[in-house]
Parts: sequence; C-alpha cells; structure tokens
Amino acid sequence: MYKIIKKNSQTNLKNIYLHSISHRNIILSFYKYFFVIDPKKLLNLIKLKLENKNILGRIYISEEGINALISVPIIQYKYIKHFFKRINKKTKRMYINYTIENKKIAFWDLRITIKKQIVSSKIKDFYFHQRNRGIYLNALLVNKYFFDPDYIFLDMRNSYEYEIGHFSNAITVPAKTFREQLEKLPEYLKIYKNKKIVMYCTGGIRCEKSTALLKYYGFSNVYHIYGGILSYIKQVKKYNLSNYFKGKIFVFDARLSEKITDDVLSQCINCKKYTDRTHINCFNNFCHRLFIQCRTCSIKLNSCCCLKCKKILYK
Ligand SMILES: [Zn+2]
Ligand SMILES: [Zn+2]
Repeated sequence: MYKIIKKNSQTNLKNIYLHSISHRNIILSFYKYFFVIDPKKLLNLIKLKLENKNILGRIYISEEGINALISVPIIQYKYIKHFFKRINKKTKRMYINYTIENKKIAFWDLRITIKKQIVSSKIKDFYFHQRNRGIYLNALLVNKYFFDPDYIFLDMRNSYEYEIGHFSNAITVPAKTFREQLEKLPEYLKIYKNKKIVMYCTGGIRCEKSTALLKYYGFSNVYHIYGGILSYIKQVKKYNLSNYFKGKIFVFDARLSEKITDDVLSQCINCKKYTDRTHINCFNNFCHRLFIQCRTCSIKLNSCCCLKCKKILYK
C-alpha cells in the first residue's frame, strides 16, 4: 500500500513539474513513407507511449506511413524523438523538423488518427510510385539555382499559404486544396517541360508526392527542397547563407503563421492594400471563408469577407 502511495505522489510531482514548464515546448514535425502492415497496432503503440506525457498535436497513420505534428515538453523531446526513430527500420534516419514553440499554445489535445493516405491526394497506390520522387536539394543548392534561368521554383502549398510568404521568384498553381493542385499540375506546367523544376512546401511531405507525380508525367528534371521551407530556414541561419524566402509561413496550429522576414506579401482581400495581419474566417459562419483583411476594411465590414456576408448578418 505504501509503495502505491509513494508512486502516485511521484507521478503527481512529475505532472506538476511538467505543467510548470509546459510553456517551453518543442514542436516536432516529421513524416515517413513506409509500409505499415497493421496501422491499428502502430496507433496503439504510439498512444501507449505518448499518453499522459503532456504531448499535444496531430498524428496520422496509414498503410503508406506516418505524418505527425506534435508539441512536446522539452524534457521529453529526446525520448520521443528516439521512440519514433525506432518504430520501423525506415524511420531510423527520418528527418525531424523542430521549432521552439511560441508563447501561444499550439494545440489543445492529442489526436492520433488512421487515414487512407498520410497526405490526401486522389492518386491511388501512390506508395509504389513514391520511390520515384525527385532529387533532394539542400539550402546551398537552392540558393545556387535560385538565380539560374533554367530553373523554375514551384510552390506546392495552398493559395492562402503562398499569399503570406514564398520564394520571391516562385510560381504557384492556383487551387484551394492540394488534391486540386495535383490534378492541375501536369497541364499547368506543360510550358515548362524543358525547364528544371524545383518544388517546395512547408515540411517537404507534399513534394514527396508532387515530384513523383511530375516524373510520372514525363518531366525528367524534378527537384524538391529537402525538409521544405522549415529546413531551408534552419540551414540558412546555421550556415549564414542568404535567405530568399520572404514573408511569413503558414503553420497548421493555433499560431497560424510564423514570421520569417519583415517583408509583407499579403494584401487585403477588399482594398488590395498590403497588410501584415493574419488570416481570419469570415464572421458570417455560413461563409466561413479564410482571408486577409486590413484593419480599416475589417471595421467597415464587421470582419466579414464582403458586403453580401455583412448584410446577411446585420439585416
Ligand atoms: Zn482593406
Ligand atoms: Zn463571407
């Protein structure tokens, strides 16, 4: 009996300690394509390891691999990193992106879900084409090709991510979702077939698919930035290189965006003036459109995206 009480109080102390430093978390993001024989079994294993450790965020598991964005207390960081590197032979040398969390809370709970694919796209059996992905580029090579007219930089993120920050020479395929973008890709890039294509996204995962798709459609010179923008920014800082990514990056947690440079690339949806404000959803819940709006227009339209939405709310 004594032992149990002692153990409990130890756990309590540990929890109190964890809470007291919970403002110092590390956000880990990583993914790996590998064949998961039993996704449910992997889910249970991860649940067992991560529960009651103040770990928050999202983890997707599918037969084609794992994709995770989690916030981890600093003292757990190494343990968690090693745990994920040991779940499969293929994850042993997996690249793990990490950033120190801002003061704002990034997530409020932990959700581990089994999905059909770890990145949604319509292409079936993509796991098998996956090995056909493009050539990885580090920051040094990215900067070298940045000024080379033979290379085209292609942003593979959504429009709302592109509009607040991107490589200044990058083009984008206008689309609302990654799926739609993939569908449009071959047609859109037809005129660049003889060019060398450098693709990038936030953490690199989307380009594992998009580069493979492009090669499938007969493009032969396809590259992508290893570890995405996040890794590029890290390397630029570490090796004191020039940074050609301007503005902010959109992050998929409560922070919404992370400032990389002071350049303001985003424009107000209504008056088209440049504004540093973050995305908001239209105040009209039936519309709920995600957009950027300057302060003046926001006051004028009561945080609605347009006059029509305002009229619906304030008849
Ligand atoms: Zn405006
Ligand atoms: Zn609206």
